[in-house]
Amino acid sequence: MKRIICNWKKILCGLLVVVLAIALLLGWGRTKTIPTEAEVQSSTTEEEGVFVPILMYHSILKDTSKSGKYTVTPTTIENDLLYLKEHGYTTIVMADLIHYVYDDVPLPKKPVMITLDDGYYNNYTYLFPLLQEHQMKAVISIVGSYSQKFSEIDEPNPAYAYLTWNDILEMSQSGLVEFQNHSYDMHHQGNGRKGTKRKWGESDEEYRKNFENDLQKTQDLLRQYTGSYPTTFTYPYGASSKGSIDLIKEMGFLASLSCYEHENIITKDPECLYFLNRYNRPSGISTEEFMKKAGIAEG
Ligand SMILES: [Zn+2]
Repeated sequence: MKRIICNWKKILCGLLVVVLAIALLLGWGRTKTIPTEAEVQSSTTEEEGVFVPILMYHSILKDTSKSGKYTVTPTTIENDLLYLKEHGYTTIVMADLIHYVYDDVPLPKKPVMITLDDGYYNNYTYLFPLLQEHQMKAVISIVGSYSQKFSEIDEPNPAYAYLTWNDILEMSQSGLVEFQNHSYDMHHQGNGRKGTKRKWGESDEEYRKNFENDLQKTQDLLRQYTGSYPTTFTYPYGASSKGSIDLIKEMGFLASLSCYEHENIITKDPECLYFLNRYNRPSGISTEEFMKKAGIAEG
C-alpha cells in the first residue's frame, strides 16, 4: 500500500513538471507585459476620471442679519478660499473642463471650481478683490435682464444691485472670472413655470421657442460685452425639463450646471459636462464642515 502511494506521488510530480514545461513553452504570462506610460495615462484618465468638486455661492454681504442659505459674509468666502489654497487646490473655470474633455489639456492636480449664481453686484465688491489678491478664479452665472436693468439705472449698491456690463467686462478682462448664462428673464417662479422648466401643457414647439429666445438674449449680450459666447447654461433653481438638454446642445452649449449636491467625475466623454453637480455654501457652518461635505479632503 505504502509503495502505491509513493508511486502516485511520483506520477503527480511528473505530471506537474510536464504541465509547467508546456505552459512555459506556450508563453504563459505573455499578456502581462509592462504597459507603456501612454497606456497607463489613458486608462487612469478615461476609465477612472478626475474628481472635481464644484462649490456654489450667491450673495456676499457684511451684514450678518442677511446671512442665510444663499448669503454668506466676505469673511466666510475668504476663509473658504484660503482653505482651498492652503490645502493645495487650484481653482479652475468651465473652459478648463472643456479643454480637458475636448483637447486633452490636463487639469491641475487638485482642481476645484467656485461658482456664483445670479450676478450680484456684491460679487464685484467683495469677491473680486479676493480673487485678485490670491490669484484664484471663479465662474459667475448672470441673469441677463438683471444686468441690463442695473446697467441702465447704474446704482452700484452691494445690498441689492446686480453687475453691470462694465463690471462684467472688467472682471472678464482680468482673466479671473468667467461669465456664464443663467437665463435672460426666466429666473422666477409663477405663471406655471419654475425657472426654465417646461410649463404644463406647453407644446414642444412653444417650449423650444420660449427657452431658446430667452437664453439667446443673454448669449448675445455676453458676447457683445465680453467678446465671447458663454459655454455653459446654469439652470435657475436647478429646475430642468426632460428635453432641455437637447435644446441647450442645439444652441451650442457644451456644459450645464445643476444644483444637485453630489460629486463630479470628469472623463473624456463630453456627456459628463452636462448637469454638473454643485454644493451650495450656506452660512452657519464652518469652512471645515462645508469642505468635508463637498468631499474636499484635508491634508
Ligand atoms: Zn439663480
